[in-house]
Amino acid sequence: MSAGAVAARHYLDHAATTDVRPEAAAAFADELAHTGNAASSHAAGRAARSRLEDAREEIAAALGADPHEVVLTSGGTEADNLAVKGAWFAARDRRASVGDPRLAPAIVLSAIEHDAIAKAAAWLAASEGATLRTLPVTGEGIVDLDALSALLGADDALPALVTVMLANNETGVIQPIPEVVEAVRAASESLGTRIPVHTDAVQALGKVDVDFGRLGVDALSLSGHKIGAPVGSGALLVRRDVALVPVEHGGGQERSVRSGTLPVAQARALAAAVRAAVAELEAHVAHLAELRARLVHGLERLAKNGELGEVRITGPGPDGTLASHVHLVLPGAHAEALLVGLDLAGVDASSASACHAGVQQPSGVLLAMGYPPDDARCALRLTLGRTSTEADVDAVLAALPAVAAAARRH
Ligand code: PLP
Repeated sequence: MSAGAVAARHYLDHAATTDVRPEAAAAFADELAHTGNAASSHAAGRAARSRLEDAREEIAAALGADPHEVVLTSGGTEADNLAVKGAWFAARDRRASVGDPRLAPAIVLSAIEHDAIAKAAAWLAASEGATLRTLPVTGEGIVDLDALSALLGADDALPALVTVMLANNETGVIQPIPEVVEAVRAASESLGTRIPVHTDAVQALGKVDVDFGRLGVDALSLSGHKIGAPVGSGALLVRRDVALVPVEHGGGQERSVRSGTLPVAQARALAAAVRAAVAELEAHVAHLAELRARLVHGLERLAKNGELGEVRITGPGPDGTLASHVHLVLPGAHAEALLVGLDLAGVDASSASACHAGVQQPSGVLLAMGYPPDDARCALRLTLGRTSTEADVDAVLAALPAVAAAARRH
């Protein structure tokens, strides 16, 4: 490298956020050239409203939903909070109005939910008395369907909501949502009520077929910045007959469940990204799968040659995992040291097992999968995206042996 040359960087953290697609950037920029609040009745407002509704229709059409089922949000976190808190408060209010003694409804959630679900539910438990029932996962990180049926009939705190993500953000493991829906429908019938099912599809969208109608769920969260729209765009798809109490109060936009001036630029960018992600699904997954195979074979070769020490790839294998994800445990190599070493070597990667006040915290997802805490501190998540190349994969394979060895000496 010549003096002053900048070393190439390799981004393997597309699950955290990914490149904005040109078509999404163009839609966003075009909207910025317009003025008009989409709730105003004058010509500028009506024009903005029309562009917003076109975007909503596109999002709905691409995802097998009705336009009325699209509630625009600022992203996945807000969509998840609205689903969990909105459904829980609605169930509580409904029970209060009919004098049902089971006033504090339960929430059934998987043990591997993103914090946007897990912490929203924990907040309801701490401040409102919600009962939480946690659905365990297998050693491969898949929700245990037998346990689900038992949880649904566990006691008299009838669930307000069952929420299970479509694919996990750390491991990429895909969850059996149609089977979850079937189990909840069967329990609903025998309990004489309809328990809504929510899925967080933030990581899955663009990497597996996501069709709201066909999945059979009542609500589904998505986030723009994971599929090539800017941060600040997202949606909760939610059936009309699912009651939600608003989390935010104000002007009554978005079916009165999500007040705030309507985000036309974000909606248009989201629509462009959703349309492209759905249209390119097959080609995109093929591209990811090819790169992932190169990465996995490279890791296996390093391990076989004794260059990497012990390494375990989590999950059930390629068919049950998003093609974007390779999630490893490198026993003895703490995540923080791995990430710092890779960063110095020009590789951006991530791990859920964060370091707090100098102490490496184990990944809750790995603990739920039965990994011992020591191993659950040693996770590395490498995630691929639309702009990933073989050079990115080769860079991490070249850097990892020395980085892992140094992390183990740490
Ligand atoms: N749910 C999952 C599974 C995620 O991976 C993320 C982000 O990483 C979120 C929710 C939160 O989405 P957002 O960043 O749009 O708030």
